Amino acid sequence: MKVKRAGKYGFCSGVRVADIKVKRFAGKGGRGAILGQVVHNERVVEEMERLGVRTVHALEEVREPVVVFSAHGVPPSFHDRAKSLGLEILDTTCKFVYDIHKESRKALAAGAHLVFIGDPNHREVLGYTHDLDPACYHIVHSAEQARAVDWSVYPSVKIFYQTTLNAEEYEEVARVVERANPDTSRADTICYATKENQEAARLLAEDPEVERILVIGGKHSANTRHLNEICSRYKPSRLIQGAEDLDAAWLRGVRCVGLTAGASTPDYVVEEVERRLLELAGC
Ligand code: SF4
Repeated sequence: MKVKRAGKYGFCSGVRVADIKVKRFAGKGGRGAILGQVVHNERVVEEMERLGVRTVHALEEVREPVVVFSAHGVPPSFHDRAKSLGLEILDTTCKFVYDIHKESRKALAAGAHLVFIGDPNHREVLGYTHDLDPACYHIVHSAEQARAVDWSVYPSVKIFYQTTLNAEEYEEVARVVERANPDTSRADTICYATKENQEAARLLAEDPEVERILVIGGKHSANTRHLNEICSRYKPSRLIQGAEDLDAAWLRGVRCVGLTAGASTPDYVVEEVERRLLELAGC
């Protein structure tokens, strides 16, 4: 069996930086708790817990002296809340997420109504919207939802995307808003790392030699799911979290497997999957 990796896959710069910051902190004996998963990958979460930095789901659950804010960011008010609880902050928010915080506040100050295209339950989206007056924004994730709103009542509209979305898939959502309100503009907020991984996954899936594709990543990772959706359009594809999820029966007789990985998947997990694949093939 031959294994072909996508030209670009795995950890993005934001997650690499977050991972390094937390490991450096833990390595110096720091005691902290991460609010939400540091990245959407269960293996990384387990690794952090082994290093002594556990995951919590509310600021009030933090018993350690330091709270870690993940690469997805938090609502600005969480900084004050953490301080009022006597916590120090280790902020690993990605700089691209901070750019959207800044740009959306600027658009709001200029009088625009904000539209966030994304998952309303995703921590990144909650970070942008939690502190805002609900009359100032909408979160939409389908064209149907966009059609249900009368956008023409707003003097202007500014569209932002959750960083890890697949732009093509949400084009119609943006167009619905634009058709209803001519004074609509888009902020190009889909992260380059996501675009590169998606494009590389598409090229891998189009490769005639590749028969099946494995997409490695956390089951709660939006960008990993999007990679799997892209690959599934071309070839039978499966999302796995690691080597332990490999299904020998699904791979029987396959001569070439494509591998790609989400932006929160560490390199060592990709290596483990490839090693296990070659073992299964008896190489
Ligand atoms: S996917 Fe992009 S926006 Fe998200 S953490 Fe990585 S570099 Fe930052």
